[in-house]
Amino acid sequence: MKFDCIVVGGGHAGYEAALVSSRMGLNTLLLTLNLDTIAQLSCNPSMGGLGKSQLIFEVDRLGGEIGYATDLTGIGFKMLNTKKGPAVWSLRAQIDRKRYRENMRKTIMKQKNLSVKQEEATEIIVERRKAIGVRTRTHSQNPVEMEYFAKTIVVTTGTFLNGLVHIGLHHHSAGRMGELPSEELSNSLRNLGFELGRLKTGTSPRVDGKTIDFSQTTPQLPDPNPANFSYRTKDFNPPKVACYITHTNQKTQELILKNLDRSPLYQGVITGIGPRYCPSIEDKCVKFKEKESHQVFIEPDGLDTDEYYLNGLATSLPADVQVDMLHTIPGLEDVEIIRPGYGIEYDFVFPHQVYSSLETKRVKNLFLAGQILGTSGYEEASAQGIIAGINAGLRVKKHSPFILKRNESYIGVLIDDLVTQEILEPYRMFTSRVEHRLILRQDNASERLMKYGVKFGLVGKIYYEEIENIKTKVKSKLKELKGHRVTPDVVNPILEKHKSALITQPTPIFQILKRPEIKWEMLEPIAGLLEPEICTQIELHAKYDGYIKREHELVKKVKSLEGYKIPLEFDYLKVNGLSYEAREKLSKIRPLTIGQANRISGVRSADVTRLLVALKSRALIH
Ligand code: FAD
Repeated sequence: MKFDCIVVGGGHAGYEAALVSSRMGLNTLLLTLNLDTIAQLSCNPSMGGLGKSQLIFEVDRLGGEIGYATDLTGIGFKMLNTKKGPAVWSLRAQIDRKRYRENMRKTIMKQKNLSVKQEEATEIIVERRKAIGVRTRTHSQNPVEMEYFAKTIVVTTGTFLNGLVHIGLHHHSAGRMGELPSEELSNSLRNLGFELGRLKTGTSPRVDGKTIDFSQTTPQLPDPNPANFSYRTKDFNPPKVACYITHTNQKTQELILKNLDRSPLYQGVITGIGPRYCPSIEDKCVKFKEKESHQVFIEPDGLDTDEYYLNGLATSLPADVQVDMLHTIPGLEDVEIIRPGYGIEYDFVFPHQVYSSLETKRVKNLFLAGQILGTSGYEEASAQGIIAGINAGLRVKKHSPFILKRNESYIGVLIDDLVTQEILEPYRMFTSRVEHRLILRQDNASERLMKYGVKFGLVGKIYYEEIENIKTKVKSKLKELKGHRVTPDVVNPILEKHKSALITQPTPIFQILKRPEIKWEMLEPIAGLLEPEICTQIELHAKYDGYIKREHELVKKVKSLEGYKIPLEFDYLKVNGLSYEAREKLSKIRPLTIGQANRISGVRSADVTRLLVALKSRALIH
């Protein structure tokens, strides 16, 4: 059977890739191990949060599904970081795990141009360094082997490649708890010459809510009038379910330290590297011994279940130790575990082997996305999935690839980091990784990215027109506010009430709004009501205009480096004066621009200057 695109894996990278490719008109096949676990949230039942919510907004504005599915199945939304500047405001949602899965499965099954098959991909079929198909096997008593052919292939197999689940010193092969691993596909990639590494991640126990004493915990309520992620969501009124907070203590610490001889992490059984920013509880107790207590979020798993996820307690300790550990924590003294926590080790493909389009350098028409490239997190996976899907579509249509830049999106930063940095631990997005975060906010994702969604036929023009309309309104309101002077007798009573310095002569409202302590709602009696989207933008312009302008100037400077292209086959060994480390890293990573070369750790400014000279002297710069 011949398709335009085959997507292997129905996780968060896979559903985005399959949906965009079919929505771009490609005849697409999604191959996945289990139809019932499409879009499974393998770890905590939540979406968004710091650095990650920006990714969801961006994927949504490009025409992806994660934001809309989150709005439809979220059961508690909270805007984080509102006391800080808008550059780091981040929306987080608690999700109904089962509904998220079911909703996505329905969307996929209904999608035009998209076929779905529950089969295991065992091999990528390659001819003359071009991917042409996938060999598969059914998981039945008499397995049937099949071959499917396509112009492009996107592999998004998450933690499944040679997956090994650990609970205590016992381990078994599995892609996730209760699911089979992908061993042959891992071998197929290795046989094609890809360099694979090994990483580790872990998850927390899930417990029965009927056995939690909530009176000993602190409830954390969602926002009463929450914001939503997707531009497609209208009349947003989701359920508002609380999370709860409790803490570990000295007893928890002692118990964990006493049982380290049964920890696969501390007995050398797990060799893969885990995420430093999201350590297991045993790691926290060993590495931060002086800290007496660690926070635990008790998160509901959905509306129709009493299952709760204990965020902050990821562990691979034996199940009996997990029970004893929980019983030391206030509110959990009598708790019953429904599913124990576990660790998982898996193979990943070092991401310097893909271009920024996510096509592999080694095999043409083969794209990789998600945890297989060393990232961790649903949002990171979905962001790569949409880019791989769009680029598969563009390849079939014989168009040039779509590459988002660092200065226009978090997605651009994520992918640029993957292709230029050495990935030694699972990569997750943080706002601190983004140098231009003041201009890459979740509130301006539409302005930045919706034009691409429209261009690829993934976002209706009507939505883009709405955005343009808001932009025009903001511009004219700003002009009006800069000209509209208010006199002291009118505004001083308001300023006095909010402990802001009084004015002595007529002053533009815009100037008054620049003050950090003054919000639009305070000026409403004299300046009038504004629609919420316009109000946020006006406030932002008033308070951050200077910083935003400076940021744009910086972007212009950096752009000049991005313009210098480096040929893929360039011989770095022939460049005089390059440091040994730079030669090694550049030859391995093969950056495509001087800008990318500049961001590789170990490549110094002096190396970049020498590289520029060498490229110019060979007249390779254009
Ligand atoms: P997945 O969501 O894993 O999806 C992979 C898909 O590929 C599945 O549908 C599977 O059926 C399919 N598949 C695999 N092999 C084949 C094959 N050969 N043929 C056909 N289909 C195949 N993220 C965090 O941000 N923080 C955490 O603390 C965290 N902890 C985690 C703990 C555990 C135990 C696990 C398993 C994951 C954890 N994650 C965590 C990661 C998060 O679940 C993933 O980053 C995210 O789901 C990755 O998305 P993906 O699409 O790349 O892969």
